[in-house]
Amino acid sequence: MSADNSSFVAVVGGGPAGLLAAQRLAEAGHRVRVFEAQATVGRKFLVAGHGGFNLSNAAPGAARFATQYGPAAGHFGNLLARFGPAELRAWAAALGIETFVGTSGRIFPVPAHTPADVLRAWLARLGALGVEIHTRHRWLGFAGPCGLRLRRAATGEEFALEPAATVLALGGASWAKTGSDGAWAPLLREIGVEVVPFAPANCGAEVAWSAFFRDKVGRQPLKNIALRMNEGPEVRGEVMLTDYGLEGTPVYALTPQVRAALAAGGPAVFHLNLKPDLPAAALLHKLGAPRGKASWADFLKKTLHLGALIPTLLREARPDAAALPPDGLAQLISHLPLPVAGLRPLDEAISTAGGVAWAELDAHLMLRRRPGTYLAGEMLDWEAPTGGYLLQGCLASGAGAAAGIIAAGAPGGGV
Ligand SMILES: Cc1cc2nc3c(=O)[nH]c(=O)nc-3n(C[C@H](O)[C@H](O)[C@H](O)COP(=O)(O)OP(=O)(O)OC[C@H]3O[C@@H](n4cnc5c(N)ncnc54)[C@H](O)[C@@H]3O)c2cc1C
Repeated sequence: MSADNSSFVAVVGGGPAGLLAAQRLAEAGHRVRVFEAQATVGRKFLVAGHGGFNLSNAAPGAARFATQYGPAAGHFGNLLARFGPAELRAWAAALGIETFVGTSGRIFPVPAHTPADVLRAWLARLGALGVEIHTRHRWLGFAGPCGLRLRRAATGEEFALEPAATVLALGGASWAKTGSDGAWAPLLREIGVEVVPFAPANCGAEVAWSAFFRDKVGRQPLKNIALRMNEGPEVRGEVMLTDYGLEGTPVYALTPQVRAALAAGGPAVFHLNLKPDLPAAALLHKLGAPRGKASWADFLKKTLHLGALIPTLLREARPDAAALPPDGLAQLISHLPLPVAGLRPLDEAISTAGGVAWAELDAHLMLRRRPGTYLAGEMLDWEAPTGGYLLQGCLASGAGAAAGIIAAGAPGGGV
């Protein structure tokens, strides 16, 4: 090991968690080398623009923000205290990216800024800080007590490095084409680290539609609905009917409940409320109005403003829907049951549940079994809903891992 080798911090994985750790370490005076398996960094960050690019969320407020991380809330409480939405916005502003809070509370870059703009500004900042980015370098595992094994794709050459400290920020296991392939899990299990099995989070749910419904409906939105899984909490928003089932923010938000119900052997039944803002008595009253000569579909449209798709959906759930008395129909409209057959495959999911168990880490995100190695981002065992909580969690943990290294005073710091 050369003296030069021992005077840097390695960051493995060039996603948002790794890049934030690299930035914080370089700002503290460390020499930082980022190793990324893909030809470019931030590939999953770049696809984040697909569904509306939100960086964080102002809705829950500081006190309740960490609860979005479910069983990992305690860990995120500490991380967010150092790098919460306010720090995230200040970080973006320092890159020249102004942000605003949308009506839903989501924090977006001002509309003209795409993920590519943010990444470009970020990489310029990292370049100015002297962060070295080595793309097409795949981490293959550990070497000795402090070392790393890597492969340079251009030559196929394998080599070892001995950084003063390492941040692993290897991502989850969805959208493998962006580099987040989860192939790191066996490398950690090899040294005894518990990796909770991966599972899809924030993904679509499969419903066994009839062939008729699938052909007739295709892909259509259901706006302003409320969705529940079994007797669980209700989530409002827009659901998209697809040929395989349902997707959209309320469905994603309920994936933990769907997973739990399916794992317990079912049943896993979504209940859709198509008129969540109409009190039950008003719904019943409207359905009790004389139909006259109007067809059933026209009656539903006129009395409840339910579009042409709804009668088909009601019949899909209950073939005799058109013959139901007003109270039965009111029950169906407000509790439309849709049995969930499964979740979409992990690779399609927006994020990954599972990952390195928190018990493996100390309060600074350092692996207890491997002092000097810190973990950050989606590779840890947590999940959160869409709406900015994912990037906020990744960036907060990247900042947390960097803070751990800085506090430990790893050699190579310029301080
Ligand atoms: C379609 C889509 C839309 C999204 N939209 C949003 C959004 O609007 N808001 C939001 O908050 N979140 C969003 N997310 C989620 C967010 O993009 C991820 O949570 C985030 O990118 C995870 O960051 P990370 O740094 O932990 O991992 P990643 O971004 O997955 O980065 C990990 C990096 O590690 C590299 N790597 C893996 N293994 C190795 C190895 N062995 N050697 C070297 N490098 C390796 C990978 O190539 C990758 O570049 C979205 C995700 C998707 C798929």
